[in-house]
Amino acid sequence: MAACGAQAPSSEQAWLEAAQTFIQESLCPTDKELNVQFTQSVIDCVKTVWLSQGKYQGFTLPLSYSFVSVQNLRTHQRLPCCSHLSWSSSAYQTWAQKARPNGVPLPRERLLLVGTLTDLSGDLEQGSRNGSLYVKDNTGMLGCELIDLDLSWLGHLFLFPSWSYLPPARWNSSGEGHLELWEAPVPVFPLTVSPGPLTPLPVLYPEIASRLLRHRSKFRVEQQNLAGKLIQLSALVKSKKKAYFILSLGELSPTISQAISHVSIIVQIPAQLVWHRALCPGKAYVLTQLRVSRIRGHHYCVWMTSPSSHLMLLEPECVQELELEGPFLEADSKSLPTSSNFQDKKEPKGLMRDSRLLHYTGTVTGVLNEPAGLYELDGQLGLCLAYQQFHDLRRVMRPGVCLELQDVHLLQSVGGGTTRPVLASCLRGAILLRGFSCQKPGTQSSLQTHGASLYEQLVWERQLSLPLYLWAVKALEELACKLCPHLLRHHQFLQHSSPRNPSLGLQLLAPTLDALAPPSRSIRNAHKEILEEPHHCPLQKYAQLQTPYSFPTLATLAEEGRHRAWASFDPKVLLPLPEAAYLPCCQLNHRLAWSWICLPPAAFHPPQALVGVLVASSHKGCLQLRDRSGSLSCLLLAKHSQPLTDPQLIGCLVRTEKFQLVVERDVRSNFPSWKELGMTGFIQKQQARVYVQFFLADALILPVPRSFHHSSAPPQTESTCLGQSRLFLLSHKEALMKRNFCTSLGTTSEVPKPTLSFHVSGCWLGGTQKKERIGWGPPEPLTDENKDQKVLLIFLGSSVRWFEFLHPGEIYRLVAPGPATPKLFEVEGSSCTSQRPLELAGCVSCLTVQDEWTLELESAQDLPDMLGIHKALSGSLLTDLLGANVTDSLVSFSAEILSRTVCESLKPVCQMKPGNTEVRRCVKLTVAIGTADSEFLPRLDIYIEDPHLPPPLGLLPGARVHFNQLEKRISRSHNVYCCFRSSTYVQVLSFPPETTVSAPLPHIYLAELQQGTWGPFQATASCHVISVVSLQLLWVCAHCTSVCPQGRCIRQGPACSIQTSISQASIRLLVEDGTAEAMVTCRNYHVAAALGLCPNEWTSLLEFIRKPGRVVLKFTGPGAQLESSAKIEEPLILYLHTLCTSPSVLRPVVLSFELERKPSNITPLEPPRLQRFQCGELPLLTRVNPRLRLACLCIQESSEHPNSQGAFASSC
Ligand SMILES: [Zn+2]
Ligand SMILES: [Zn+2]
Repeated sequence: MAACGAQAPSSEQAWLEAAQTFIQESLCPTDKELNVQFTQSVIDCVKTVWLSQGKYQGFTLPLSYSFVSVQNLRTHQRLPCCSHLSWSSSAYQTWAQKARPNGVPLPRERLLLVGTLTDLSGDLEQGSRNGSLYVKDNTGMLGCELIDLDLSWLGHLFLFPSWSYLPPARWNSSGEGHLELWEAPVPVFPLTVSPGPLTPLPVLYPEIASRLLRHRSKFRVEQQNLAGKLIQLSALVKSKKKAYFILSLGELSPTISQAISHVSIIVQIPAQLVWHRALCPGKAYVLTQLRVSRIRGHHYCVWMTSPSSHLMLLEPECVQELELEGPFLEADSKSLPTSSNFQDKKEPKGLMRDSRLLHYTGTVTGVLNEPAGLYELDGQLGLCLAYQQFHDLRRVMRPGVCLELQDVHLLQSVGGGTTRPVLASCLRGAILLRGFSCQKPGTQSSLQTHGASLYEQLVWERQLSLPLYLWAVKALEELACKLCPHLLRHHQFLQHSSPRNPSLGLQLLAPTLDALAPPSRSIRNAHKEILEEPHHCPLQKYAQLQTPYSFPTLATLAEEGRHRAWASFDPKVLLPLPEAAYLPCCQLNHRLAWSWICLPPAAFHPPQALVGVLVASSHKGCLQLRDRSGSLSCLLLAKHSQPLTDPQLIGCLVRTEKFQLVVERDVRSNFPSWKELGMTGFIQKQQARVYVQFFLADALILPVPRSFHHSSAPPQTESTCLGQSRLFLLSHKEALMKRNFCTSLGTTSEVPKPTLSFHVSGCWLGGTQKKERIGWGPPEPLTDENKDQKVLLIFLGSSVRWFEFLHPGEIYRLVAPGPATPKLFEVEGSSCTSQRPLELAGCVSCLTVQDEWTLELESAQDLPDMLGIHKALSGSLLTDLLGANVTDSLVSFSAEILSRTVCESLKPVCQMKPGNTEVRRCVKLTVAIGTADSEFLPRLDIYIEDPHLPPPLGLLPGARVHFNQLEKRISRSHNVYCCFRSSTYVQVLSFPPETTVSAPLPHIYLAELQQGTWGPFQATASCHVISVVSLQLLWVCAHCTSVCPQGRCIRQGPACSIQTSISQASIRLLVEDGTAEAMVTCRNYHVAAALGLCPNEWTSLLEFIRKPGRVVLKFTGPGAQLESSAKIEEPLILYLHTLCTSPSVLRPVVLSFELERKPSNITPLEPPRLQRFQCGELPLLTRVNPRLRLACLCIQESSEHPNSQGAFASSC
């Protein structure tokens, strides 16, 4: 302390000197000479405040503090700070605690701020007043906020004992920080108290004042003084023309008759706008020199302040009620101006609800979206300031700010994803600042910085209701999170929308907003909104909003799809009983190996809209939608049956509400039999392929301007203006697959790795064209006119990205940027030629498309010579396809996929790599070939094997697909089937329908099957069972399918380790329907139906078979001759024999069947044979068609047959 004491005088001296210099420079009035006295007054004032805090550590001067000028704050103070001269350290600590735990308190600086409080921005001459407050010194001025302004403070010099300074936030384009003045300022010079009026002021109270307004036409109303309690204070409305606010005075102590009496006063004189900060609802005031005025465009009159008006607190002893005489003094029932045009507006009853108007005081606890004016209040309420002009308030708003909300609307259950009640202020109620926040403002994300002008547009131009506004804000946030900043910058995405420069954000929302809130012509009228009774504003009535859409990130969408696909994966559902019970284990596992689900947007709550940038993958060759979260593969069609052809779509923003999210499930399992299907342990591996498919015609496609891209395009240099191109007509495209291309020349020692590639063939249309100032120059003359212009283009490396855009029949322009190279599109190295001799047959040139080359789609209309180009997809004739003609083994056709299953590879086992024990699998598509000449669609199996696996996207049951150049093969059983090969090109024509209505099978006569070339493959017929031809019941090993007597597999070396047996059954019936006879084979559980046994009887019968393992009965004729696997005397055989010859089996049935002979079978049909019949005495010789062979799909009892429950129905 001694050292301190010794040091003190000199340091005090230094402090004083510094203070004097500062005061003289920054504070002293420049036109006055009384500098010494002035300086002393300022220092005295500082001293007084300093000493008032008590713990001043022996110093009479705040030596640790230094003066700061406005200029210094503005230029040097980059971080938020606070300074509390009058506070002790412990007081500051207590205060700072309030900021925690969620925030950081404002750091304390030791700065002394002295300045003049004023509402005048700038000089006396040029400055203007708009109700804002400033602290001013000789160096400049700073905007400030102050709680409880006393109007007498304006224009005086103050020491501010406690304040915080906030530098401009990122959103603040003015670049000006502001001051928050915590405590009442301390005047440097004592304020002169204006004496009250000598004589009591004559005043009017609200009831008389409002009557006077109504009878204004009869009397000349002079300027009056009005007195009353402030019961309503509107927001400060600032328009381009002027700024104003409206206050309402009510009776001091209203009686019942005066309860509703209040009078509204408009304050619009610029110098009086600052009153808005001084007025405090609930207090009584006198406003002097008011006049009556009519508001333009309205039928009613209000009181209005004049330039000479004053605002003062009402002191009852200083006023006296003015005595008036006139008829208007009698109370009349006619009340305040009422709303005229809103009452009759029709609104759906029940859906609309009224918000409640109330006063609320609370603390901001969270900032939800600052530019959109959304905050959290007291941890449980939403607060929306967007329906007011909240720009001035925005700089103050952060957690910890205390607000008093006058006449605020409370909206509950607004819907649209908002769960908590929301308070929202319209222009009628003021938002009064009641306390500052001690928190340091958090660092603002870009999302919290940009978009204010767009949000304003939603409220003020689009006139969105609050529920819709809240949803739109949320949707824009979601979209910004998806797309910014990698694909777009925040400020670009959320920019103000104008017709010439529309905001991308708004464009993405427009389809929904246009449907829910069509753009309206009416604009909000602030006067009406504040004055009219009953109150009408955009917040008054609202309807709960069903969330129209959400915009999930692509990663979320894919994850959700994956989640649902596995949640709904149930082997027992995929393989329901009784079918599963008869399947051997390999079939069982194959049937589970592939399955899929398709989720339309409506499968999600709320519905999802898909938004992303379309990109073409240079690695995979597929199309993808991309957002910040990742990318999602997609299958696009321009519209039904029309592929995507225009590469310009790359980079466009796509939004669609109509799409299918497809999840294909691939499962490897080893379930021993159907009994274990419930156990997940038998699933060895599972993976899902997720993609979306949609029509571009259903989507909104927004080109993203080049300047929007994150890495802006380099300026157009001379080299980018150069380029050459050549047109070609594409005739065939081949599969995208890994091929053994030698990618780099000279490295022949390396084993070439298979490279993902494809090639197309076509022909050049004309010669190379050079880029000119506008468009392309004329084609160069061809060196040899007669030369065939055929070309094979090879796409490998990153040029595989063009795969999805290239389609036969279209004309493309191949563009090579950079300076012109002669014969660029003609020459090709010999390496290519040597490797692909077959494909090159007939092609003049073979060209590898370079990575930097691009493709453009050319329309055939622009090329007059090309009008005749045949664009239809080529297809083979059905007779060629299903005929025995094998000379043309490549076939093309369009077909609908009926089913997709996994089966064992067609390739012989010896082709497999040694040691590879895993059974190779292939995908089998069963398709119905679409033909114009047949009502019934022939079916065909198509097999896809490695290296064509996994199959291209979109090969789903229900989809229509064009298959080009499949290889046609004939099986050992003479059935035609097809296989993928490297030349195969697949194009999906349409997606599976969202709802599949299974049409009932056609009901036919059996004779109809003997007629047409391709009759129905499946049908129903009513027929009669004439006889049973054979019956076989057996138990087989589920693993190896050999017979199991006593339930044990008898296979030797290696014996089966798993002893699970399954039953199998088959029966052959002869049926006729009066037109023809047919041999029907029923298998497994259909045998029970054929025998007319109920489930219990069938199960018991199978149990009897378990011991012998196999029972076969063959009925050689319609009589009783019988061949059997066991002795005929055995009771079981006897029972079966009796059953098969009884009327409970030989009965009328409704049979659903399919032809046993596939439509693709190419063995010639048996010709009708001659058969001899005896008709009485006469022998007849007639042609008999070969007997039909059918496979049973379902047997139902004929409704004519009374005994529909089987032979022993009573015993069940
Ligand atoms: Zn309102
Ligand atoms: Zn076995």
